[in-house]
Order: sequence, then C-alpha cells, then structure tokens
Amino acid sequence: VGYMVEPIQRLTHMSTQFQEGITGFQRFMEIMNLKPDIESRPNAIKLSMVKGKIAFKSVSFRYESHLDPVFSNLSLHIKPGEYVALVGPSGAGKTTLFSLIPRFYEVTEGEVQLDGVDIRKLDLNDLRNQIGVVQQDVYLFSGTVMENIRYGNNEATDEEVVIAAKQANAHDFIMSLPNGYHADIGQRGVKLSGGQKQRLSIARVFLKNPSVLILDEATSALDNESEAVIKESLESLAKGRTTIVIAHRLSTIRNAERIIVLTNEGMVEEGTHYELLSRNGAYAQLYNKQFEVQY
Ligand code: ADP
Ligand code: MG
Repeated sequence: VGYMVEPIQRLTHMSTQFQEGITGFQRFMEIMNLKPDIESRPNAIKLSMVKGKIAFKSVSFRYESHLDPVFSNLSLHIKPGEYVALVGPSGAGKTTLFSLIPRFYEVTEGEVQLDGVDIRKLDLNDLRNQIGVVQQDVYLFSGTVMENIRYGNNEATDEEVVIAAKQANAHDFIMSLPNGYHADIGQRGVKLSGGQKQRLSIARVFLKNPSVLILDEATSALDNESEAVIKESLESLAKGRTTIVIAHRLSTIRNAERIIVLTNEGMVEEGTHYELLSRNGAYAQLYNKQFEVQY
C-alpha cells in the first residue's frame, strides 16, 4: 500500500460515499496512524532490482493491546514469482500475517525478509513501493478518477494511468462516466459500484508495478458478474509477481501452486488443493464446511 505515504489530510477529504466500508476504513486509519516508531533506520538499504523472495523466520507477533500472540514461531518461504494462497478461519491471523510484510506492524520476535534481507534494514518507502495490496475495502478520496489511479504512482503520466486502467478492465466504464477520467468521485460526484471501485484499486496497483502482490479477500464483497471480471484482472496483475492470496471462498484458490492453512494453532498444513483434500485434515474440513453452506 504505497499510497499510505500520501499526507493524511487527503484522507480527511474522503467522501462519505465510501462509508459502507466503515470497519475497513477505521482499520485503515489505525494503520495510517500506526506507531510512528516504524520508520527507516539511519543508513537504510535502498532497493533496486527486487526479485520478490519473501521469508518469515521464526516469526512471533502479538498486538500491543493483547496478551496472547496472534502466532508464534512461524516460518514460511515464498519463492520469487510464486502464487501462494493463505486460507483459514476468520480471526486466525491471515491479515495480520501479510501486514507484517510492508511493516505496518513490527514482528515481536524473529524476522521477515525480502530477497534475503531483514525488512527492518530496508528503506521503508522502497519496501512499501514493492508491495501492492488489493483488499475488500477500497479507499478512494474525493478527486478525479485520474487522481485516484495516480495514487499508485505519483510520477505516472496521463498515458500511463490510462494503460493501467485498461489493464484493470476499468477503461470502458471510466469512459462512460460524464467527464471520463476527469469525473469527480467525491461527495457530490459520480457514484461507483463496488466492482468499479475495486477496478480502480487494481489500476493503482498496475501503475505501482510492485514485485509482491497481496490480495486480501479482494473479491469477497462482489456479485458474481463483477467477480468474474475482477478475477481476470487480478490474474493478469499477478503475472510475474510474488502473489499471496487470502481467500474466503476456497473456489478462488484451487489453482494456487501452494495452499497454506493458518488456524489458531498456527500454520497447520500446506500443499496443493488435491494434496490437502486427500490428507483429510484442516483444509478438507474447511472445504467441506463451505461446500455444505454453498450447496
Ligand atoms: P484473519 O484475517 O485471519 O481473519 P486477523 O489477522 O484480522 O485474522 O486477526 C487475527 C487476530 O488479531 C484476531 O483475534 C483479531 O481480533 C486480532 N486483531 C486484528 N487486528 C488487530 C488490531 N489492529 N489490534 C488488535 N488486535 C487485532
Ligand atoms: Mg482478514
């Protein structure tokens, strides 16, 4: 979420149009106001040519407000360009786990590495510029469509914004808005559907062009039709990037190279969809439970 570096006052102009995501919004504000002690160290390492290898080394994490850790002694290695899915019951710590990668929170013990380097040694802006996040809730601010997409990379030209919008399957609906890319999506501006907002957030990430992509239940609030379009954009966004998908609906992660199951007991299983089903353990249980609910 590189757009975190933008001044906070921008957010105060955020339109009430986006109030439906109020919980997510509060969470976002919490993250924005996160511990000011999370900053680059003196002599922080500047990043260039990032491959996108991620490692969690014996990581334990506890929120300051809580006594119990969310997870303890967790290790995980993700290869550059790998497509990994993280599943597990609500509250298991999936979102917390990924929020350690851009250093929204600091590990309590252990370390998180990018390309073999402890992320605490990296320049914080460089680190966050390498990580794109698409979440269920989309944070737009009042301003034009163009400005909202450019949030992904402030240096991008208008042409680059349009290319990113096309990659995100957003160009056509943008062109149908009064004023197109200059349409105001503020309080008195045009109203966008959930799927349209999500496509703007995907365009931002295309523009940002990070080496690591985190999709946190990105399609879980959408109707089936927009889910299909958005899945397609997300698949093309994931190409050539290390991707971690956190999914509610197990149907969306069946094709992952590797599925990791995180429960309150920690990382309890990993493997492909079929390996895990035949193991008849936690994944199979989650899968069957969902199957019952859906059909
Ligand atoms: P998941 O994404 O798997 O549903 P989360 O990572 O959101 O799980 O939450 C893991 C645990 O941490 C939960 O018990 C949740 O209540 C708690 N938690 C999440 N965010 C915070 C926070 N900002 N401060 C304190 N506790 C939190
Ligand atoms: Mg979550």
